Amino acid sequence: MRPIAEATPLLQTPKKIFITTHHKPDGDAIGSMLALYHYLTSKGHSVTPVSPGELPDFLMWMPGVEHLLNYEAEPKLALQALADADIIYCVDFNDYSRTKHLTEQLAAATQPKILIDHHLMPAPVWDYGTSIPEKSSTAEMVYDYINQCGDNSLINKDIAECIYTGTMTDTGSFRFAITTADVHDMIADLKRKGLEHSIVHEHIYDSWSESRMKFLGYVLLERMEIFPKYNTGLITLSKKELRLFNVQSGDTEGLVNYPLSIANVRFATLITERGDEVKLSFRSKGDFDVSSFAREHFSGGGHFNASGGRSKESFSETVARFKKILSDIHPR
Ligand code: 5GP
Ligand code: MN
Repeated sequence: MRPIAEATPLLQTPKKIFITTHHKPDGDAIGSMLALYHYLTSKGHSVTPVSPGELPDFLMWMPGVEHLLNYEAEPKLALQALADADIIYCVDFNDYSRTKHLTEQLAAATQPKILIDHHLMPAPVWDYGTSIPEKSSTAEMVYDYINQCGDNSLINKDIAECIYTGTMTDTGSFRFAITTADVHDMIADLKRKGLEHSIVHEHIYDSWSESRMKFLGYVLLERMEIFPKYNTGLITLSKKELRLFNVQSGDTEGLVNYPLSIANVRFATLITERGDEVKLSFRSKGDFDVSSFAREHFSGGGHFNASGGRSKESFSETVARFKKILSDIHPR
């Protein structure tokens, strides 16, 4: 992968640009994609941002969201945009399979592909890019990219809100250890460009439905197990429970973090039964590497302190296997 700066000559004349991100997009995925959309559009390019699947409700307010194509709703339009594109940007993922639906199409695409991402172990498939696991968020890297292009003055309120959303959600509202002085410097700059941060917080965190709040109560009371011996908290949710509470896409967002608020819990896992697979989310505090854990045991990956994976076994088999692994490795 060549440095992203070397891709600059490709952008000297107006281009058709396709941007995509990972399936089940979060605040950083959509924030990064839309920040880049606004920036490249302001430079005169024709840009199509494509989400591989639907967005959670708490992101539907974002500036530019009306220009997003959802592959699951409009696959033909999305594939046409990919075929027509001169350049492809991939943000907040580093392996084609994380897009789920676009895996083969991206692999077959011959246009220059540019990566902006902060996950560990990028697949060796990009022509240009920047991959920095020490970065708080891909949104912060989009901010750096715009600055490297000499375009700080093009950052307007829309771009600021998108970048803020991505960084805020990936850093747990600026509390995780990955939140550097550079992040705070960036936020100061975004504030000077018109960012109203409390409105973004309200959109993201104070937009729950009553049923989501009651579902959280149920989860904490009935579905959370704490294993003090292993410094671990586990939440498991079957398809039946998700249906019973009419759980919407995005309603399980953040659940995995709750056990980490208990003293001495340093490893938290959420296991959810979805469609034809079982999805696992892992979070840790300190030096337990959940990225390796996900890769080794659950065909996944991600970051040192936040990762995910999947299992093709049944829900109950997956939960049993997880508990067995726990007793074998004794996380600290
Ligand atoms: P989440 O638990 O929010 O789904 O994912 C946490 C982090 O791990 C995210 O940064 C996400 O990109 C990454 N991640 C989640 N699932 C997978 C997976 O199946 N494979 C890989 N490589 N990374 C994942
Ligand atoms: Mn991210």
